[in-house]
Amino acid sequence: MRKEVVAAAAITVGAAAVGVAVFFRHWERQREQRLRQAKRILRKFANDCATPVSKLWNVANDLCSNMEAGLSSEESQLGMLVSYIEPLPTGEEKGIYYGINLRGTNFLLIRGRLGGKNLPISELQREEVAIPSSAMDGDSTEELFDLIAVELAKFISVHSEIDGEAESRERKLGFTISFPVEEDAVSSGTAIKWRSLSVNDIVGKELTNDINQALEKLGIDLRVFALVNDTTGDLAGGRYYNKENVAAITLGMATDVSYVESAEQVPKSAWPITQFGRNEFDASLDTESSNPGSRMFEKLISGMYLGEIARRVLLKMAQETALFGDWVPPKLTTPYLLRSPDMAAMHQDTSEDFETVDEKLNEIFGINNSTPMAREIVAEVCDVVAERGARLVGAGIVGIVKNLGRIANKKSVITIEGGLYEHYRVFRNYLHSSVWEVLGSDLSDNVIIENCHGGSGAGSIFLAASQTYNADSY
Ligand code: ADP
Ligand code: MG
Repeated sequence: MRKEVVAAAAITVGAAAVGVAVFFRHWERQREQRLRQAKRILRKFANDCATPVSKLWNVANDLCSNMEAGLSSEESQLGMLVSYIEPLPTGEEKGIYYGINLRGTNFLLIRGRLGGKNLPISELQREEVAIPSSAMDGDSTEELFDLIAVELAKFISVHSEIDGEAESRERKLGFTISFPVEEDAVSSGTAIKWRSLSVNDIVGKELTNDINQALEKLGIDLRVFALVNDTTGDLAGGRYYNKENVAAITLGMATDVSYVESAEQVPKSAWPITQFGRNEFDASLDTESSNPGSRMFEKLISGMYLGEIARRVLLKMAQETALFGDWVPPKLTTPYLLRSPDMAAMHQDTSEDFETVDEKLNEIFGINNSTPMAREIVAEVCDVVAERGARLVGAGIVGIVKNLGRIANKKSVITIEGGLYEHYRVFRNYLHSSVWEVLGSDLSDNVIIENCHGGSGAGSIFLAASQTYNADSY
């Protein structure tokens, strides 16, 4: 009797073991199938984003002809702005200069000494001041400019002891604006005015008057002569160091380009429009953005959008291939939650099991059960997005250099400013290698890409210098 029970029990255990094995095989097969599906989405995405040299040349040529069209038509749809900041620096400018760089939610006060003879900027001081929301939201810029004037007065008084008396009488001020990109800021009156700068020179003059009035009210003996966007400031900075500096590019949260138009020697800014095949993720990102149909090139390359494109791909994989298990992590559905520094960290994770990817997925999306295979796919998605963006910027650089007629036999220096270029190593490498690939090794030697001098916002100092320096008075 006892024996039978034991035998029956043994049979039951045996059956259960077979059941587990069958279940396990089924589960294993399902997992492999899902993984294959995820890889299929990845391959299609990578294919859609591919940027072979022929395509990059199309982009470069397209940009080049659009730049010409933008110049010949007053009613340019390209958002090209002529900046009248004559003259650009020559590199001979000397003295202490002050600058203001107004950004989305803060402004920078900067001071530095130029030594002439293209000597590097020295004694650089900078201070960042947050802008309270009351000053951002108003329709008028008065509160904001009063605040800037007060802070500038403090900043000057701290540094004027260092400057010495003679130089403190000769203070020069440059003013640059970085367009705010935060969506909620765009709805404020001030932000609209800033944005209008890109299409309306009158707005620039108005803002210059406003800031000068605020300075005057406080008895600050400084005047702003021109107010331009900060990429144009970076171009001025590049010019101080090298007269062959023909363009500056901002690659941060937002992107912008400013270049010197050869015939007239006036800087123009904004990326011209270019056609580039968009995939389903780009298309839905654009449709759901606050400015559908506009700034299309920026939507492929800027820090604001790279992480968002990657998030959309990962969401599709989570929904259709259970990349993160049998759930769609709710936070993965939140737009713009994946920012480009986090994307860069996952992309550049070289650990065997993608530990940084694991950490970031957990921290950002609350995903704590990712498999090493899933993490590898995440890193590859980031790679595809960054590679396309960076290579398109490379094509843009070639387009500008071509438009200026400098490809074949002239050296061209391009200054780049912004966190995306500065801190995202793989992005930077892709950008450089695409210029090299498109132009070939001989011609690409003529294109020199440099990090901006003096850091973000320092262009305002070079502007102050070029507008006010008079060699005779020194
Ligand atoms: P802003 O664009 O606000 O002027 P920056 O020029 O410093 O500021 O650029 C900051 C932007 O650059 C970030 O919003 C981000 O998009 C990008 N960025 C900064 N650091 C990194 C990084 N380590 N990896 C990738 N992108 C980065
Ligand atoms: Mg910046």
